[in-house]
Amino acid sequence: MDIVVPMSTLHSPGRGRDRWQDTASAAGLLADDGSVAVTIFAEMSALAVRTGAINLGQGFPDVDGPEYVKQAAIAAIQEGRNQYAPGDGVPELRGAIAEHQKRHYGLDVDPATEVLVTTGATEALTASILALTRPGDEVLTLEPFYDSHAAAIGMSGATHVTAPLLPGPDGFRLDVDALRAAASPRLRMIVLNSPHNPTGTVLTRDELTAIATVARERDAIVVTDEVYEHLTFGAEHIPVATLPGMAERTLTISSSGKTFSLTGWKVGWVHGPSDLVTAVRTVKQFLTYTSGSPFQPAIAQALADDDTPRALAASLADRRDLLCSGLEAAGFTVTRPAGTYFVMADASGPLARLGLRDGVELCRRLPELAGVVAIPAAAFCRGGSPTAKALASHVRFTFVKSPDVITRAVERLARGLRTATP
Ligand code: PMP
Ligand code: GLN
Repeated sequence: MDIVVPMSTLHSPGRGRDRWQDTASAAGLLADDGSVAVTIFAEMSALAVRTGAINLGQGFPDVDGPEYVKQAAIAAIQEGRNQYAPGDGVPELRGAIAEHQKRHYGLDVDPATEVLVTTGATEALTASILALTRPGDEVLTLEPFYDSHAAAIGMSGATHVTAPLLPGPDGFRLDVDALRAAASPRLRMIVLNSPHNPTGTVLTRDELTAIATVARERDAIVVTDEVYEHLTFGAEHIPVATLPGMAERTLTISSSGKTFSLTGWKVGWVHGPSDLVTAVRTVKQFLTYTSGSPFQPAIAQALADDDTPRALAASLADRRDLLCSGLEAAGFTVTRPAGTYFVMADASGPLARLGLRDGVELCRRLPELAGVVAIPAAAFCRGGSPTAKALASHVRFTFVKSPDVITRAVERLARGLRTATP
């Protein structure tokens, strides 16, 4: 999948790197010879299509969200809601977002000045990071991290620093001492993600309190990616904005893609204090200005519905158990996720048996060995970092697939990895 970039046209001697190269490099997609790869999700989904393997890589559901939400979008198209929506989003969706935050978390959000509808959580994240950081600033994330967080930090020219989430008896947990050590006086922003992709960790109140303390001490802005807020299994999702003194420095981001199984609609949002939202709007209006006019009123309706996400979380808990026990039977060691639709599996056993180096090598060979696609944990780490080394043997599988697909995938893994020869 590598695309070789003709350096003569894009890179004259002495010019240094352009922003796109910083972006690619930050996401681990730029090789020393100047070639650039597409995202790991695109690469692995293409591999699945090419080989006919079952795709447990990219996280997207194989069953669409509710019929009534689809009908609401169709009705909006037929009613003529097909021209530009207001830049901030249609009023009924901004109102529904504010109402959702009040109902679930007790957060007071003014829909007129404190909410922005965006093109998925991705645009909200990138616009927030671009708006509020610059070269010389440090931006802290957990590691492993979702790829677009690193890419947006690279785009802004800020420096990415990390605090590890490492596996232990209680799942992947934050190393609070490492977090404190990573927070220098140059810290401008902390980008959080809970429930966390790829580990499935739901940060505890203690972990969030430690993060909030660092943010206040360093006077840092917190950008929190909560797209899996409703996809938890027994663990309580605590928005960091609900902690004392945090609402005034936090931008909270979510999206309808995960909650309502409509990832292709790309309706997301960000809310926070109006001065921070003004900064984000200023950038966002020149990225897309606005998008998804007929989808916005449909998501406004959906946000009043707590039954759909509740039922999705319950069915995901069963599918998590199905995938985890199947992976264990196939020789992996799994850390059971408390949220999201991903599980991290340590492949040390299969790697040793097959004489493979790491999770990257395993994921490249997995379609041929077992007819299954997964994502290596390395894709969520900085190349060569201590966390990347600690998680070198880990791979991520998604369980947002029908039970039948999961069952077939784990059977293939058990058979394929048992019969394969080094
Ligand atoms: N953040 C995380 C942690 C994700 O896993 C995803 C995956 N889709 C996104 C953001 C992107 O969300 P959206 O599709 O709404 O842009
Ligand atoms: N969030 C999805 C995942 O982690 C991928 C979305 C994308 O392809 N960028 O699998």
